[in-house]
Amino acid sequence: MKILTLNCGSSSIKFKIFSMPKGSALIKGQADRIGLDDAKIQWEGEEIKHCSISYKLHSHKEALEILLGLRTAGGEKSPVNTGDIAAVGHRVVHGGEFFHSSVAITPAIRRTLEGCRNLAPLHNPHNLTGIDVCAALIPDVPQVAVFDTAFHQSLPDFAYTYAVPYRFYEENRIRKYGFHGTSHRYVAERAAQILGRDIKQLRIITAHLGNGSSLCAVGNGKSCDTSMGFTPLSGVVMGTRCGDIDPAFVAYLIKNMNLPLEEAMRILNYESGVLGISGLSSDFRDLFSAAETGHQRAALALNVFAYSVARGIGSLIPSINGLDVLVFTAGIGENSYQMRQLICGYLSWLGICLDPAKNIQGTPERDVSSPETQVRVLVIPTDEEKIIAQETMSILTNGGQPTCQDGF
Ligand code: ADP
Repeated sequence: MKILTLNCGSSSIKFKIFSMPKGSALIKGQADRIGLDDAKIQWEGEEIKHCSISYKLHSHKEALEILLGLRTAGGEKSPVNTGDIAAVGHRVVHGGEFFHSSVAITPAIRRTLEGCRNLAPLHNPHNLTGIDVCAALIPDVPQVAVFDTAFHQSLPDFAYTYAVPYRFYEENRIRKYGFHGTSHRYVAERAAQILGRDIKQLRIITAHLGNGSSLCAVGNGKSCDTSMGFTPLSGVVMGTRCGDIDPAFVAYLIKNMNLPLEEAMRILNYESGVLGISGLSSDFRDLFSAAETGHQRAALALNVFAYSVARGIGSLIPSINGLDVLVFTAGIGENSYQMRQLICGYLSWLGICLDPAKNIQGTPERDVSSPETQVRVLVIPTDEEKIIAQETMSILTNGGQPTCQDGF
């Protein structure tokens, strides 16, 4: 069975085709700069050399039409043969309080998804466009929504309630939601498998450190608390996002520095984080090389990031009453031994001891702690698209009735 996964952003669409149940990615690719004259669709696969089409893509619809082979561009064969696709799994960033797990998209579900649109204005509208375009272009192919927020729906009320007038929760559903849930769930479950333990007996903190970064405390197999909040802007410091700051700073930018609200939010989302501190890059590889050659603000940015993650980990421990396992995942968590070292350096009081050699080198999935450690430290590669494909297949095969029709 082949499953197409789609992650639709504001000007890009990331896609992969998986052969299930094996879970191998046959094709992966991306459409970029949608809406601009020099948009590009690129893909490659197990048996396909790198292909690239440069084309003026006016919309996500056009990009998906080309991708799905319903329109030709540049004489290239499209990456997807729609006849082969058993289902489409969509990443949907925000499912609000409506969705505790992945769902088959029916007309009723699509209407409910509409209610989540404004909860993540930078993400959800594009995810919904992907769903609508697929529904119009390939109406007979079932579609499934997989939510970043679903895993965190188990948070207790004292963890998700903000200390603002309660009416904002009652009337507007303002609360902590948390994100990257698909990844946190996958690596926590995998950690228990690797350790040969029942996940319900483990207290785990998962650190998803990529362009966006978040932490999750998993107790009794459930998300008990997490670092991101109402939106993916809060929590630990990130590549270009500020993470937690004093909310009065936003008012200051607007009132005292005369910035329009949109500009203030753009700065906090796209010009902050380690990019903002270093003035150099949001890529941690660039920052580590610059710091090695004496770039002080790159070194400061790395240290601010490491401290913010360590502080975040410390702050989650009460939610699970201790810590047995710390898992690092995503681009930085999986690949940067220096960052793992810096973060764990702030956590030695917990009895965390890394094995320096294992931390530096080994298989992608490994235990990097030393025998005397009191908290096992694991590196586990995440693959959100693969998890989306697995969720989609499980909805298809476990009695869900994923139908997707025109007109919703
Ligand atoms: P996304 O959130 O876009 O999925 P990723 O999980 O791919 O992000 O992570 C991207 C980040 O991973 C980038 O900041 C990049 O610097 C970092 N990264 C990737 N490889 C390394 C490495 N070898 N050392 C340090 N950082 C790395």
